[in-house]
Amino acid sequence: MSLVSELRAQEERLLACVHCGFCLPACPTFTRLGDEADSPRGRLYLMRAVAEGRLDPAQDAFQIHIDRCLGCRACETVCPSGVEYGFLLERARREAMAARRPGPVARLMLAVFRRPRLLRLAMALSRLLRATGLPRLLAWPGRPLVGGTQLQFALAMLAASAAPRRRWEGAGSATGGARSRRGGGPRVALLDGCVQAGLFARVNEATARVLAVNGCEVTGAPGQVCCGALHAHAGDLEAARALARANIEAFETSGAELVAVNAAGCGAAMKEYSHLLADDASWGERAARFSARVKDATELLAELDPVRGGALPVRATCDAPCHLFHAQRIQTAPLAVLRAIPELELVALANADECCGGAGVYGLTHAELGRRILDDKVEAVRATGAAVVATGNPGCILQIGAGLLLAGLPVQVRHPVELLDQSYARAGYYAAGGEAGA
Ligand code: SF4
Ligand code: SF4
Repeated sequence: MSLVSELRAQEERLLACVHCGFCLPACPTFTRLGDEADSPRGRLYLMRAVAEGRLDPAQDAFQIHIDRCLGCRACETVCPSGVEYGFLLERARREAMAARRPGPVARLMLAVFRRPRLLRLAMALSRLLRATGLPRLLAWPGRPLVGGTQLQFALAMLAASAAPRRRWEGAGSATGGARSRRGGGPRVALLDGCVQAGLFARVNEATARVLAVNGCEVTGAPGQVCCGALHAHAGDLEAARALARANIEAFETSGAELVAVNAAGCGAAMKEYSHLLADDASWGERAARFSARVKDATELLAELDPVRGGALPVRATCDAPCHLFHAQRIQTAPLAVLRAIPELELVALANADECCGGAGVYGLTHAELGRRILDDKVEAVRATGAAVVATGNPGCILQIGAGLLLAGLPVQVRHPVELLDQSYARAGYYAAGGEAGA
């Protein structure tokens, strides 16, 4: 279906915009560039122009401004008319992609993330490179690099994914078995995630342990694949739908009551399978049932009122992943997780709900603008004096971590559940074990 006919079918969604402009100050691209065409209102106007046949989607006027959108959905949170901007953006990108081939970085990423074996190979090679220590060495602040800033930034992102070398005094971590501190929790299957399983296996392990301490029966879901978020955001909706069907099948077979996700972007995509497959007669209802069972790991923990752990005396601040705060509207759950950690000093981060400029591969495909947005985030972190930034999305960990590394700031970026896990280890909730792996 073309954008034109998609929009005819979804006319109400597009016409919901009353042009009030409340979304403009919330939009990171508009506030940096000052161009109406780089605002939510401007982009919706362009979508309507294409839908009504007044604008050719192959033209720069459409391509550039739709491409430059972060997809952060901050505009949705402030919109009084409830415009479903993210839904419309995915369909606009589908049209943009059909009219003009995406760039080489985007094409490569989409191809790799569709092929599990290739993805595993790419992740294994990335881990090998990370283990050499070269990425951290070459991403050293102020060290100019042959190959340009994009290569250096990519290396800094890889370095930022490594397990922290410095641990706070008295804080432990464990790989041993978790002992439940309460019973009667739900049976939960975890999404492994592509980047999460490839570069942040320690976060998946921590999530399983922390849920077990809080009474959940944690299980896997063999056959699960990439959540399809990258494909949907890029406009490759058919690939996203194929991945969604495979995941629904795998998680149904697992027999779990709930699906826990510790990557905000993946969780948002899986909660929206219900929209993605709404017009599919055989899958629509299954997708709706599945989406209703998906929970972010912090959301689930907050509902369970997390067991308190051992003291972790560190100053921390919390950055809100866009796909948690804006797309899933989960705003306080990560704070509830961090408050279960005694002696953790939580300080507010200015503009914590603004995008960090990561947005999938935005930091690589829109290096200059992505870096401007990231620099503001790095300065906000610097102002807190925190030793750790908690954020629940691998893309944000990579992006903010790279920014801090290149700025020479000795600040760790960790998933909130990873910090709670460390606090539980400190409290002795785990059987004896070594340091958590990378
Ligand atoms: S806030 Fe909503 S209704 Fe107002 S201009 Fe933005 S998208 Fe349109
Ligand atoms: S998704 Fe983010 S970048 Fe895109 S229009 Fe909305 S606020 Fe702006």
